[in-house]
Amino acid sequence: MATVESVNGPIDLEELGRTLIHEHFRVTDEATRFQFPHMYDEQAEWDAALSDANAVKDHGITTVVEPSAMFLQRDARFSKRVADESGLQVILATGVYTYDHLPQVLLNRNEDQLAEIFVHDIENGIQGTDIKAAFIKCAADEPGVTPNIEKIHRAAGRASKQTGRPIIAHSHPKSGTGLEQMRVFEEEGIDPAKIQIAHTGDTDDLDYIERLLDTGCWIGMDRYGLDIFLPTEQRQKTVLALLEKGHANRMFLSQDWCSTLDYFTPEIEEQLVPTAAPNWSMTFLFEQVIPELKERGMTDEQLDQMMVENPKHWLV
Ligand SMILES: [Zn+2]
Repeated sequence: MATVESVNGPIDLEELGRTLIHEHFRVTDEATRFQFPHMYDEQAEWDAALSDANAVKDHGITTVVEPSAMFLQRDARFSKRVADESGLQVILATGVYTYDHLPQVLLNRNEDQLAEIFVHDIENGIQGTDIKAAFIKCAADEPGVTPNIEKIHRAAGRASKQTGRPIIAHSHPKSGTGLEQMRVFEEEGIDPAKIQIAHTGDTDDLDYIERLLDTGCWIGMDRYGLDIFLPTEQRQKTVLALLEKGHANRMFLSQDWCSTLDYFTPEIEEQLVPTAAPNWSMTFLFEQVIPELKERGMTDEQLDQMMVENPKHWLV
């Protein structure tokens, strides 16, 4: 029986169950937090994470995949505590989340040396724990696949090749990065079925999405509620069109929700939310998106394919 590493050790693939493929229990800046901890309210963060974990569990979710990495304040102990107190299964990553910047310590290391760092998390454990990373995270955004980004992608590819672990790649469809990212992975000789291009659902350009699917990768329709990138109705139309074309076996539904996100002051957040992300939460899928998709023709089989079957096949 194939297994996948969770914060509480390996679990049988068959025990994954209904899975959210892309959510975060806490996202804060690591350097700011280390230097100025007084800016952060740990109790409030904990309460938010646990309340989200319990809420998705009430909606039948058994596993949350948390693609946090360096620069997203990945914290294996925090995620394990969420799992322990909620009863959810949580699956963690290794990798670096950057749109270009790298610190000297990583700038001055080559692809193979970076891959070795990722392999350590997969084989030995994360942050001094015995919690092992189940997959590798990298990112490309508006600046595109810059030399630094290409280096991280090649390192992720090499770590994947060495360990057999899959990759999730944050993308920026409006700059067409998905195809560029797949080109780098192809050059590294990675099986496209190991790669998930996250945030593909930020565009309704079916031509771009189908070109991406033609490469053989998975796609994340994973930012439901982030209207600032694409309003819900356009996300729905895109998913329904792709379902109609038979792509249920290549897609994931998720929200990229962050139980805590430190990007904005409360005042600015209050101004932004009504237009940028009025419905964004870790349960928006269950409250509105899925019921609406069902009304408009999505079958239970298609939903199970996306939320139960696809996670098993990508993670294995
Ligand atoms: Zn994310």
